[in-house]
Amino acid sequence: MTASEGPDLRSLVSGSPTGRVAVRLAAAADARRVLAPAVAVFDHAGPVVVDTPEKVGHAAGPVVDLSDHMALPPLVNAHAHLDLTAVGAIVFNGNFAEWAGQVRARRATTPGAIAASVREGAARSVAGGTGFIGDIAGNFGLEAVEALRASAPSLGLEGVSYVEVFGIGTASERGVSFVQGLAGAAAANAHGIRLGVSPHAPYSCSDAVYAAAAALGLPVATHLSETTDEVRFVQDGSGRFADLLKSVGAWTPELRGWGMRPVERVHPLLRGTGAALVHLNDLSDADLARLVSDAGQDRACVPVYCPRASAYFHHPEHGQPPHRYRELLAAGLPVALGTDSAIVLGDAPTISVLDEMRLLWQRDRTDPMQLLAMATVHGARALGVPVERVLLPGPGRGASGLIRVQVSRAASARDTLQEVLRGASACRWLWAGSPKSPEARS
Ligand SMILES: [Zn+2]
Repeated sequence: MTASEGPDLRSLVSGSPTGRVAVRLAAAADARRVLAPAVAVFDHAGPVVVDTPEKVGHAAGPVVDLSDHMALPPLVNAHAHLDLTAVGAIVFNGNFAEWAGQVRARRATTPGAIAASVREGAARSVAGGTGFIGDIAGNFGLEAVEALRASAPSLGLEGVSYVEVFGIGTASERGVSFVQGLAGAAAANAHGIRLGVSPHAPYSCSDAVYAAAAALGLPVATHLSETTDEVRFVQDGSGRFADLLKSVGAWTPELRGWGMRPVERVHPLLRGTGAALVHLNDLSDADLARLVSDAGQDRACVPVYCPRASAYFHHPEHGQPPHRYRELLAAGLPVALGTDSAIVLGDAPTISVLDEMRLLWQRDRTDPMQLLAMATVHGARALGVPVERVLLPGPGRGASGLIRVQVSRAASARDTLQEVLRGASACRWLWAGSPKSPEARS
């Protein structure tokens, strides 16, 4: 952090006679509490406590005044495609299969280009306050896993890199054997990035690929119920995705559909794995009931909603109802937020779920505390990150970093959080996340 970006707290801490520095803030919030005003105390390892001035009491050591800022825990982006960061803008013309063809034609394919795209995406994510990410390592992308592992530690980024698998029709067996060999192809955990697996979607993966992915014991993510074309293909094997499979030679005569909806087909195959189910744009009442039947279970699947991606792809389609994330939340499911690829983010300079929170606040007036939960503790559930890592620090627990957003005035805590969601101010790091667990700090 340079001087122009704010105080260099690490230097202040190391120069402090008490080894501590206090920061006065307009407010601070996590998924469980919202405080205004607030004081954050730091030592050499990061934030020690964030609470009201009364609770913190006299802070021994230097005091920094940032009373025009609100502090938040590091954000969790539960679904990104960092290896598509360099693809650039593509106009969506209403045909998803055609759009995906353009992405395939333009995506990075050499290890050097993949690494550069992942690195750029990781840097733009951290610049947007992301501490934890669920990244799709696209197209059997072991290179993208290595690229994220190479760039994440110096940025203080942690998370899961889900290796994306395709395999349906003539390609099903190849997909299954790739999945079965995955655990031997890369370390399960290195440099703060866990290995995961992502069967791409119901129109590109067979039941056998899903079952093999679920059996691995690695984190799982899949795109699910994203488009009406997908719903049609799973139902009766027809439509644009059937045409696409025929055009790439993957189609077989057995692909006549499952006679059911995507959630009905895939959810039983992934049940009990804690899989991230991404998009869920098109949910029937029965789909919703099926997902909700998991609520409260230890390894429940986690819905991941990418609001800007859904809007980019013109969801809701043809007079369909809006996304049903609020019903999923109300039923007790920990809906998390994702950004999807940078292709859908327009000219946003950073890759951040703060912008997804802002969209939902401005469009739906979703409860700000609910939005904060989606962007932190629910995302942590999706990625298998201990929730303490994305809560304000207190006795015996806490995030290893904090972000800050400028606010214009001292106000009530909830008003200040609303101001963050109304506005467009960039977030910055108050203390950049370092890949240390709270346990390692004590
Ligand atoms: Zn995606």
